Amino acid sequence: MALLTSLHEPALKLAPYKSLDNATLHARIEAVREALGPRLLVLGHHYQQDEVIALADLRGDSYQLSRMAADSTDCRAIAFCGVHFMAETADMLVNRPERLAERGGERVTVVLPDLAAGCSMADMAMIEQVEACWDELGEVLDTEDITPVTYINSAASLKAFCGRHGGIVCTSSNAAAVLEWALRRTSRVLFFPDQHLGRNTAFAMGVPLDQMPVWNPHADELGGTTAAALQASKILLWQGHCSVHAMFRPEHVDQLRAKYPGIRVLVHPECSREVVAKADVYGSTGKIIREVEAAPAGAKWAIGTELHLVQRLKQEHPEQEIHFLSPIVCMCATMYRIDLAHLCWSLENLAAGTPVNVIRVDDETARWSLVALERMLQVK
Ligand code: SF4
Repeated sequence: MALLTSLHEPALKLAPYKSLDNATLHARIEAVREALGPRLLVLGHHYQQDEVIALADLRGDSYQLSRMAADSTDCRAIAFCGVHFMAETADMLVNRPERLAERGGERVTVVLPDLAAGCSMADMAMIEQVEACWDELGEVLDTEDITPVTYINSAASLKAFCGRHGGIVCTSSNAAAVLEWALRRTSRVLFFPDQHLGRNTAFAMGVPLDQMPVWNPHADELGGTTAAALQASKILLWQGHCSVHAMFRPEHVDQLRAKYPGIRVLVHPECSREVVAKADVYGSTGKIIREVEAAPAGAKWAIGTELHLVQRLKQEHPEQEIHFLSPIVCMCATMYRIDLAHLCWSLENLAAGTPVNVIRVDDETARWSLVALERMLQVK
């Protein structure tokens, strides 16, 4: 197969793939994977549906997947079964200058099987809004004394903003270490886009809630806060959230505890402060998986994170009793858009040399984003 050679051919159309059944799509995807071998990596985020995960070469959270792909020497194309910001991060990490030089300048092509797979949280902080916020902050505070910190769940343009302004990227695993680094550097932090990860992390570090005002990018003035509140702040939070994790409520914890005495509640830090305060354990997707893997047979859990991951943990650990924390279906609807039809379509186009849905971050944005990502890697 041609992998990225015959760029003059018209791309295969998506519509016919939508009428194929899953068994056919699965077989055709397997055929492309076999033909391309180690030159192709299919990356499957933990929140992805099972049919897609079954065909993934690597499974993990967004940063883990990008790192693993960047470590591969053979890989020349990636199909990222996740959301847009994840594919951007993969593009920047696998195509960073030293990796490009090792490959004699050959880029790894990163495709997102469905371009509509975005992230509602990432979309809550647009670069124009963050730049306007920074300018407004400059009217009441010394921005030289503020470190911008962006959660990895954000557009590359925000990571680049952090790179340019002495800031840094964090993941849900290293947010505390990153905030400690930032607060050693400056008196204040501007944390975006997820207010809950920022608040939960800083609160656990001893920052009082009244030193964490929330900046509303849609407010007319000073993000809906006041000059006095900003001057008294330590962590300035952005008014953004994950629409999936925001659906878990403190009353869900009470209901599950009443129904299953002795149950342990395990939640993601993108849940609200009230939910995290009631949980027994909270942590990143990786931590949630490790907690379950380390628990003895008979352990009882109520887990507050994306539905597909919880269902998979349940299937993989029949020796434990695992409940979903919410009575409502909380799944990442945008990630769910990546189905076998889109995956097959994007892979057959890759193999035919007519790549579709290619995610390519411009060089300047990638350069500054990598500065912020490298700072994160230096934080222990
Ligand atoms: S689960 Fe939430 S943060 Fe993660 S991709 Fe979906 S909307 Fe974005």
